[in-house]
Amino acid sequence: MSSSTSDRRLSELWSCVTLDEASSLIDSTSNPFSLQNFVGGQYIAPHDSLTSSSQHITSFEPKTGRPIYTLPCTQPHAVEAAIKAAKAAFPSWSKTARAERSAILWKVSELLQQNREVFAIWESIDQGKTLDRARIEVDRAISNFSYFSTFILHEQTAARMVDGVALTYEHRSPAGVFALISPWNMPLYLLTWKIAPCLAFGCTAVAKPSEVTSMTAFLLGDIFQKAGVPPGVINIIFGDGATTGAALVASPLINGVSFTGGTQTGIAIRRLTAHQIGKHLSLELGGKNPTLVFADSMVPSVRERTIRVAAMAAFENQGEICLCGSRIYVEKSVYNDFVRDFTAYVREKYVLKQTVGAVASLQHCDKIRRYLELAAEQKATFHLGGVPPTLNEDEAQGYWIEPTILTDVAKNSAIQIDEIFGPVVTITPFDNEQEAIQLANDSEYGLAAILLTTDGARMRRVGEQLEAGLVWVNCWLVRELGTPFGGMKNSGTGREGGEHSRDVFTVVRTLHLPAY
Ligand code: NAD
Repeated sequence: MSSSTSDRRLSELWSCVTLDEASSLIDSTSNPFSLQNFVGGQYIAPHDSLTSSSQHITSFEPKTGRPIYTLPCTQPHAVEAAIKAAKAAFPSWSKTARAERSAILWKVSELLQQNREVFAIWESIDQGKTLDRARIEVDRAISNFSYFSTFILHEQTAARMVDGVALTYEHRSPAGVFALISPWNMPLYLLTWKIAPCLAFGCTAVAKPSEVTSMTAFLLGDIFQKAGVPPGVINIIFGDGATTGAALVASPLINGVSFTGGTQTGIAIRRLTAHQIGKHLSLELGGKNPTLVFADSMVPSVRERTIRVAAMAAFENQGEICLCGSRIYVEKSVYNDFVRDFTAYVREKYVLKQTVGAVASLQHCDKIRRYLELAAEQKATFHLGGVPPTLNEDEAQGYWIEPTILTDVAKNSAIQIDEIFGPVVTITPFDNEQEAIQLANDSEYGLAAILLTTDGARMRRVGEQLEAGLVWVNCWLVRELGTPFGGMKNSGTGREGGEHSRDVFTVVRTLHLPAY
């Protein structure tokens, strides 16, 4: 494709200001858009990213099943070229004054803000999420840049005295070139959660979004160009995990990896980098999070909130958030009331008002449906959803899963153990607080937990025993960007957010200066 043709096509994407316009654009084009890598500050034609033009991946729209675009499956030699571009940019960017880095990243946040709706439209089309949900995530992406662009202006460092002998102080410097790899559930938000701190702390990067949802990462290249990010500081390449991702993380030129995705991929990345001891690794992995509903949270004054929070935690973004509470445990005395009210609320809010999107891919849809078939085989009770699914005519070609509420699922069923990552929850009764904690912690994962109770002492007593990196009490998904984000057990290692992101992207050396 000539560069003027690709510029025209890029401007067509930018010109869509409603979902309908974007949808018609997809319909009107005989060739799906072909995304291009963004390396050294410019988009590069597919033949420069590939060894052969046949190495590309087609991405489909979850709501309709139609092809939307193709992306290059970037081959190892082209991955290396992108890493070299990042390496070449490092000496200058790492020494660029904080005020200047801050101004550039602030400009990125402003440009994202100006193009908020276009990003939200393409994110909704590409991922399957509702437009409202996509807008929330674009707002969070904007905050990622505004937060870290100002964070670096107010950094402090620790100094310590050894009386009469020495002064010691911590000196931090950018850790080098990073691989930034993200999943498909919140594409723009999660990728920028890595890019913003990485660049703010003076590192350079090669970013790879999921092959399932690459569209908004593609648009980001244009934003970086316009914001004046120097060439090579951020490079965005496309491709799958086995070819592109693995070559990226394993490269000896890469000083650190910030990865968000599944636990099995996290293990693979650990293996690929096991011999590179000094490589920084931040792994944000899967979850199978518990929601604990105590009887005191079902009294009339707070019942509506309890149901709303449990439902939101279960079905927001069609359950495709690593922090979703998909195992609900309810104190026995209010169990029947909860199941009844929860089911009625979810039917009204999510099913009738159609506030759940389609799941991200056909492969993922099939996986979720297999769990539902297993639930039917194991004689679980379906309070909502069913096998076979009930779909509207216009949903038949897309990847739709009805919000599903299951009870009578055995503790050792794969449905209770595995991360399904879709709009499927189980509800199970418990007798007392100790049993609730034991059930909540009975998982290989430890990412998040939701605690619904009005008992102040219990909030701490139970909250502090839950094996989860994040515990939300009577709320869910509340974020403050300085708080440590990350999981326990097989949900990951390392924390990101504020100064914790600084730990990921910088190296610290301690200087000792004698007193005399
Ligand atoms: P995935 O692990 O399959 O893929 C994630 C990314 O890793 C993709 O970009 C993929 O191409 C890449 N990848 C795959 N194999 C690779 C390899 N060998 N080397 C390098 N990169 C490789 O995950 P997914 O299916 O895209 O996303 C869903 C998972 O992400 C769920 O488990 C979910 O819980 C998790 N997730 C975790 C968080 C968190 O913050 N802890 C947030 C969102 C999603």
